[in-house]
Amino acid sequence: MGRTPEFFVDQDLCTECGDCIKAIPQAFRKTDGEEVAEVFNADLEETFMPKVQQIMTDCPGKAILWKKA
Ligand code: SF4
Repeated sequence: MGRTPEFFVDQDLCTECGDCIKAIPQAFRKTDGEEVAEVFNADLEETFMPKVQQIMTDCPGKAILWKKA
């Protein structure tokens, strides 16, 4: 089973809506003591790809980005 490419939250762009945490709690959480989201686990099975791409599109701040290799 393949894995998703790595992705991250640009916290300067995050509007703190929490949608990514609701959509994929396996990958996103609130940063300690703050409302902005962070990725705590970017190593997901390939089957998560549609969900990751969907939340990237839906994120109001366009803050979820692929990590460039
Ligand atoms: S969906 Fe986007 S704006 Fe909303 S909490 Fe997640 S990263 Fe931040």
